[in-house]
Amino acid sequence: MLDQPEKSVFAFGRGKADPAVDETSRLGGKGANLAEMSRIGLPVPPGFTISTDMCRAYLESGRRLPPGLKEQVETAMAALEKVTKQKLGCLKNPLLVSVRSGAQVSMPGMMDTVLNLGLNDETVEALAKRTKDPRFAYDTYRRFIQMYATVVIGVPHELFEERLEGARDLAGVERDDELDVEALKKLIIGYLIDIEADMDDPFPQDPQEQLWGAIKAVFSSWKNPRAVTYRALHGIPDEWGTAVTVQMMVFGNSGPESATGVAFTRDPSTGERRFFGEYLLNAQGEDIVAGTRTPDPLQPDPARKRKSMREKLPHSFSQLQQLASMLESHFGDMQDIEFTIDNGSLWILQTRSGKRTINAGIRIAVELAKEKVISKAEAVLRIDPASVDQLIHPMIDPDAARKKLSAGLPASPGAATGAVVLTSDAAVEAAAEGRKVILVRPETSPDDIHGMAAAEGIVTSRGGMTSHAAVVARGMGKPCITSASGLHIDRSKGVARFGRMVVHEGELITLDGSSGEVLLGNVPKVQREVSGDFATLMDWADDVRRMRVRANADSAEDAAIARSFGAQGIGLCRTENMFSNADALHLMRMVIMSESERDRRNLLDRLYAMQRDAFVELFVKMPGQPVCLRLLDPPLEEFLPHDVPRQEAFAKAIKRPVQDVHLRLEQLREINPMLGNRGARLAICYPEIAEMQTRAIIEAAIEAGKASGAPIVPEIVVPLVSYYQELRHLRETLDASAQETMRAHKADIRYLIGCIVEVPRAAIRADLIADAADFFSFGTNDLTQTTLGISRDDASQFLSRYLELGIIEHDPFITVDREGVGDVIKQAIAKGRATKPDLLLGVTGEHGGDPASIAFFEETGIDYVSCSPYRIPVARLAAAQAAVRAERTAKAAAKA
Ligand code: PEP
Ligand code: MG
Repeated sequence: MLDQPEKSVFAFGRGKADPAVDETSRLGGKGANLAEMSRIGLPVPPGFTISTDMCRAYLESGRRLPPGLKEQVETAMAALEKVTKQKLGCLKNPLLVSVRSGAQVSMPGMMDTVLNLGLNDETVEALAKRTKDPRFAYDTYRRFIQMYATVVIGVPHELFEERLEGARDLAGVERDDELDVEALKKLIIGYLIDIEADMDDPFPQDPQEQLWGAIKAVFSSWKNPRAVTYRALHGIPDEWGTAVTVQMMVFGNSGPESATGVAFTRDPSTGERRFFGEYLLNAQGEDIVAGTRTPDPLQPDPARKRKSMREKLPHSFSQLQQLASMLESHFGDMQDIEFTIDNGSLWILQTRSGKRTINAGIRIAVELAKEKVISKAEAVLRIDPASVDQLIHPMIDPDAARKKLSAGLPASPGAATGAVVLTSDAAVEAAAEGRKVILVRPETSPDDIHGMAAAEGIVTSRGGMTSHAAVVARGMGKPCITSASGLHIDRSKGVARFGRMVVHEGELITLDGSSGEVLLGNVPKVQREVSGDFATLMDWADDVRRMRVRANADSAEDAAIARSFGAQGIGLCRTENMFSNADALHLMRMVIMSESERDRRNLLDRLYAMQRDAFVELFVKMPGQPVCLRLLDPPLEEFLPHDVPRQEAFAKAIKRPVQDVHLRLEQLREINPMLGNRGARLAICYPEIAEMQTRAIIEAAIEAGKASGAPIVPEIVVPLVSYYQELRHLRETLDASAQETMRAHKADIRYLIGCIVEVPRAAIRADLIADAADFFSFGTNDLTQTTLGISRDDASQFLSRYLELGIIEHDPFITVDREGVGDVIKQAIAKGRATKPDLLLGVTGEHGGDPASIAFFEETGIDYVSCSPYRIPVARLAAAQAAVRAERTAKAAAKA
């Protein structure tokens, strides 16, 4: 049968199903799977699915039924009546149906469903006669009235609960299924009276009216507040709409040989391959959901006294187990199956890929690939890279009670507890005494590195996902929350106010860096296990990956962690962060205070040895891997102390009046430091700093190369380049220093000089700049800032509003702005590679660890992404997925 474009109702059952274009999006996950199960011959109650387009049309037209729908449903209903040999409303052999919702992705319990539709005061009698079970018939009618009245008519649920309780009391029983026919009949009369009183209208007796009422209610349930919130939380588009499936009822409540239940083909919490689930004898699915009766296990379980389905209904059990394994191989994934046994006949009502924990997800994907059900590449695609974070960082115990103080941006994942400290010095002092602390600051600057290093975690009241605190904390693998709501710090009183809650210095707080919540007290944590299957999956990811993954690392410790997570080199060492060492910082401050170039050079000679030793350590930790070192980037003013006590202490240490420090700060002060004398500009104005760093890099590479026996090819990168002439000029300076160092050591090593592309002008003139560069490293943090003209440190204040209003889809500092910044990158790549076809290209901004951005970089032909050490596994997996998808797209295009 050919699919007609206007066809909106699709039948299934008895080994057949009408084909639909874009089956999952038009029929919903449930409708599409029912059609598929029917095609492969599974026992599915016959029925039909109304496509999602009809829901959209219904909602858009002010809730009017779209033209043609009535006729199509009538035709489908007539066909259903024919195959079932039953008829809606028939007094001899009445057909009962369920009317179910089902969106493209499962939204469990968010939308409405009506069961047992078609019953009325007369058909209930016919059902009683047909089944020879009046109790069953009246119980089913009472369930229908209750469900239809609450879902379709809007009668309050409590009304029925009260009546039901009254009926149980009157009959002197505890459970609903102990009510006899007479009690049920009385209960039904009570229900009907209540409905009429509440709605001023009698309960609809006409099955056709019931059917259309239920279809409209299911359409409308797409817009109910539960569903709207769920979609917002899970990023499901509002435009999709729900499909409606109308299906012959089968009854799990029709006697001792009947049951209903849920089965999983593997354990959803551990991933173990074992048939697993629960069932209820003589019950309907809603009994399980409502929790009124406790279900029993499918398989014998020594911990549970009641009999399993395998013992009670052995024939149905083995049939179910067989069908379940068939479904798993057919769909190639762990299935979550709803079934009903109606008087000994097994029916499958629904199957879908079961929800699972991250650990279970990895185990299932790896085992399915080993069992050859799916390919290794498919296993790699199955895991959400973002969820891999959970496997690396400790997390808050999900069962622990939480007292929330504030919610902010989840800038760096993980969980930590410590005493509140309000200054970095206090953090260092406390850590020296062995106390764990959380550093609470308005924001952080390079001045705070020592405090951040000493703290367990960091909270700031300002800043975004790429603020100083965020970037540094991610690099350190510490939880960090930025823009914490309601946070005000009063240092004079020694308190941090979170809204109305006041927390004193020394009081314990806990950070949940994964959700962005600040919690009161010490909340228990759990360490996630990195299982063997995780390692296997990552190996498979590496096999299919094209882009390399490097780390942003500034210390030997960071480099070692990055290497243990599989980093293939260092993409960015921010050398300014190496001044967290107190001696180096002090010397650097003296360099800045110097009046003459000669004094500066003398002091830089003393700094040189420290830099060289630090570089050697980095090279040693990354044997055989490339290491890229960035010349000093921040404005000099950032290195000087900013508060009076520390300014006084520093002045005393260098034996100068404190006014000199103030004067120097005043000279260096800039209105817009981010756009000021930093990066390449600094290297041009103070060449002696760039020369010292180059000498230190080259000497370290010679030394480390000799020690390891393998040559090291250092990469030197110049930040914030705009002009070709800037890089040309600096290249001469750097080359001269490198040559001089090599001569002094009688060595000749290869080294690369490149630039960070982080200003649009560099991208626009990439053709020329490539002439002076061996490589480009895209600094997407600054490139986003400079392309959009949005301050990366202040963006969250208004971007959150933009996101709410839908002006932008993603925060451009988290996920690369494809159309803007992405386009700038593409132009730079095209122009750069037109000049130098083998120009090495990397991304070193925070986007290098973001899966959606990584997918974009794969498309552009970037050679490597670089990210903080704890993002490496995420980036490896995301890069592998991007490569698999790109290959699939290319194959499909070639086929077409
Ligand atoms: C960038 O701007 O993207 C970058 C890598 O450097 P930083 O974050 O240090 O400015
Ligand atoms: Mg930058």
